[in-house]
Amino acid sequence: MTVYPLPAADLKGEGMTSQRARDRLAASLREGGIADPRVIDVIRNTPRHHFIDQALHSRAYENTALPIGHGQTISQPWVVARMTEALLERVDGSRGVPQKVLEIGTGSGYQAVVLAALVPELFTVERIEELLRQARRRFRQLGLTNVRTRHDDGKLGWADEAPFDAIMLTAAGDTIPSRILDQLSPTGVLVAPVGSPSQQTLIRMRGDGQGDFIQEELGPVSFVPLLGGIG
Ligand code: SAH
Repeated sequence: MTVYPLPAADLKGEGMTSQRARDRLAASLREGGIADPRVIDVIRNTPRHHFIDQALHSRAYENTALPIGHGQTISQPWVVARMTEALLERVDGSRGVPQKVLEIGTGSGYQAVVLAALVPELFTVERIEELLRQARRRFRQLGLTNVRTRHDDGKLGWADEAPFDAIMLTAAGDTIPSRILDQLSPTGVLVAPVGSPSQQTLIRMRGDGQGDFIQEELGPVSFVPLLGGIG
């Protein structure tokens, strides 16, 4: 697991405060039913305040979604934890490590950084160029070397790099785009919010290796919409 070095400014004060706040957040995730200790550790060690505007820093470790500009949000930490945990769980219930993972909807880059601490290769696609530019800068600042980014319509997936062992969508469509499903390995796992803006369910699909995908509903969630084209 990766422990991200904090920039020097954080070592004087802010970092200490946020470490306590992160410990509290980790405890609340545990109380909220997050069971995979790897996921809790990564969230405890990830400086979420780096992914949001300075004006919101004091709220960075609240268990809530926050605005990141362009009408988008950084997801609630509990939801990030739940989706990450769901992606890492094998069919037999044991905890695995998918090798090659695709995220659709880079946004702030926070979910990508959480995933990149846990898996060898993370590919992430964002349709809003300015958000992607900021996320790339954060990946660089954190010294990440296993994240590749792409400015594109994520509904198309990332065909050149397919198949993926795991795919996560962090924006909600009415259905899971077929181009994305086509890029999932036969034993892969996909986690995505699906539904209308007012009613969404977190869906997990896991391949049985024989060409069939078993679908489960993991509970209600609230995400920004999966849009078409690039911004
Ligand atoms: N994972 C992000 C969540 C950001 S919100 C984080 O941790 O901050 C969802 C993101 O999905 C937004 O940035 C939005 O622009 C993006 N998005 C929506 N539709 C998309 C599409 N078709 N392709 C790529 N990104 C998309």
